[in-house]
Amino acid sequence: MEDLRELLRGAERVVAFTGAGVSTESGIPDFRSPGGLWSRFDPSELTFGRYVVDAAVRARSWQMRREFFAKPVQPNAAHRALARLEQAGRCLGVVTQNIDGLHQQAGSRTVVELHGTAREVMCLGHAPTSGVPDGCGWRAPYTWAFEALDAGDPDPSCPRCGGLVKSATVSFEQVLFPGVVEAAYDLVSRSDLLLTVGSSLQVYPAAVLPEVALGSGARLVIVNDEPTPLDRRAALVVRGRAGEVLGPAVDALV
Ligand SMILES: [Zn+2]
Repeated sequence: MEDLRELLRGAERVVAFTGAGVSTESGIPDFRSPGGLWSRFDPSELTFGRYVVDAAVRARSWQMRREFFAKPVQPNAAHRALARLEQAGRCLGVVTQNIDGLHQQAGSRTVVELHGTAREVMCLGHAPTSGVPDGCGWRAPYTWAFEALDAGDPDPSCPRCGGLVKSATVSFEQVLFPGVVEAAYDLVSRSDLLLTVGSSLQVYPAAVLPEVALGSGARLVIVNDEPTPLDRRAALVVRGRAGEVLGPAVDALV
């Protein structure tokens, strides 16, 4: 812990990269863990390609989204610590794999959401192909969809153009939103310390961002409860839960 404080103290442009492990202490289980959503919903069924052709898949996806929001969740000590670091001018922002919006709720202002956000729904257009949304640009808070479903519309469509509506997340087999990876690369390449928290760093672009940071001369710190493939490249590896590690580490600084 003292080593982590020392590294943070010496850094002026921290960028945090966060995965599911940063939100588990808020009560959001990792999708793939026992009790996670994918133990009850089949991911191979809820792909982008199937969503756009099958109303039953859309209905099942809305049901899954309702379960995601069934229990109110709050940011935890890790989200709050990263927000404080940014407000103190020590952190350029957060790149996250999470779709829960908890970084923004905690007060982080610069947040790049690689997989979109469950807090909004968006128009996909009438017949998007190849995993790319083709909508009119309409978006609304996620509650719009639940209100439409509750009002008796089993398959809510875009009020502006009549296109399909989906959670503004990146589904399986869906292409990442334009500009998002570039924004993540840009932020990370300007950092002097990349703090990865709660990500196994195994999938693209998560596995690449530490390389980008190291290539631009930044130091790498990994906070995770399990080993990652990049541990040996890190200046420091801390095993533990995100809030329990980051809360006290940042308390000592700001
Ligand atoms: Zn539309």
